[in-house]
Amino acid sequence: MSVKEADVLLALDAIQLPDGKKLGSSGRVTGIVINDGKVICAISIDAPEAATMEPVRASAEAKIRALPGVTTALVGLTAEKAPTRGATTPPPAGARPMPQATSKPASLPGVKHIIAVASGKGGVGKSTTSCNLALGLAALGLKVGILDADIYGPSQPRLFGLRGKPRLVGPRMLEPMERYGVKVMSIGFLIEDDAAMIWRGPMVISAITQMLREVAWGELDALVVDLPPGTGDAQLTMAQQTPTSGAVIVSTPQDLALIDARRGIAMFQKVNVPLLGVIENMSSFCCPNCGHVSPIFGHGGARAEAEKLGVPFLGEVPLDMNIRATSDDGRPIVATEPDSPHAKIYKDIAAQVWASLTGGGAARPAPKIVIE
Ligand code: ADP
Repeated sequence: MSVKEADVLLALDAIQLPDGKKLGSSGRVTGIVINDGKVICAISIDAPEAATMEPVRASAEAKIRALPGVTTALVGLTAEKAPTRGATTPPPAGARPMPQATSKPASLPGVKHIIAVASGKGGVGKSTTSCNLALGLAALGLKVGILDADIYGPSQPRLFGLRGKPRLVGPRMLEPMERYGVKVMSIGFLIEDDAAMIWRGPMVISAITQMLREVAWGELDALVVDLPPGTGDAQLTMAQQTPTSGAVIVSTPQDLALIDARRGIAMFQKVNVPLLGVIENMSSFCCPNCGHVSPIFGHGGARAEAEKLGVPFLGEVPLDMNIRATSDDGRPIVATEPDSPHAKIYKDIAAQVWASLTGGGAARPAPKIVIE
């Protein structure tokens, strides 16, 4: 007999929340998806509750897993609202001031720095850049992992030329795959190709949180997180719930992309994640026949914009057939043609990112940006 939503909620009523309510009937359980014995759902929280609600999340997972017919349970905490940090509403007259909420997510043991790679929209080369950035960091001699959080279109398995399922180590930890000296985890290893289509915000966040915390990353100097494109609630919550050291924004030079990129910058500003800088991808086209370089998208826009906004500009990656071919072939250029001019660009960007993270560079808090 297959498990029903009502069974899940009933089982969750056995868990009492800190405010005395029963979890199942509290209205906090959202996005229940049941598929072939797999149950995925989220518990809505306010961002500052993240630490106190973690044991509730873990017990909810155990309760669901214990139901007959359930093979896998995946429960995440989701704070759809931005944290109240910096809120300007004055307290009511006579009220005692509330202590400042600290919603900093718990760090990931063994992982020194988490670098989020974001873009305002899809198709700008965020995944290609994340992959080559991770390889560039590895080329510096660092221990590096990459988490493909682009749940709507996971590309890291293809970029790294990896197939198969990750191994389970211990009762619930997954072992990341490894290629070119980089540890790789992707939702693409865990679900069928078209399954991602049905995923909604809270489920996305559940899956990402789990991939972050229930993967045996081991000791890493840097974990690159390839975020889903865009700057919606899911991305914002993820930026909030991930203990990110800094963020990189990938943009193409077109104006529209830059408006989107500005939204990306504003998103990290909202959650107080330092901006490591902007990368202009597909900044110019280099003809494979004659070597002539054409600025087909009006090259230089991202640099000018970054300067205007006071965000570090990390570099320009040209639109190049070889970058596309090696990416689509699972032979990323930094790993397979490490001495090529394009690999050098990515490696320079990686060196700047690392310098910023370790205090030798220009990482700075996100500037104030207003989007009309
Ligand atoms: P996103 O993650 O932003 O959706 P991808 O990294 O998947 O974008 O890139 C989209 C397509 O563009 C892929 O086919 C990729 O090979 C190609 N691409 C990305 N960057 C470059 C580049 N600098 N030169 C040529 N092709 C690129």
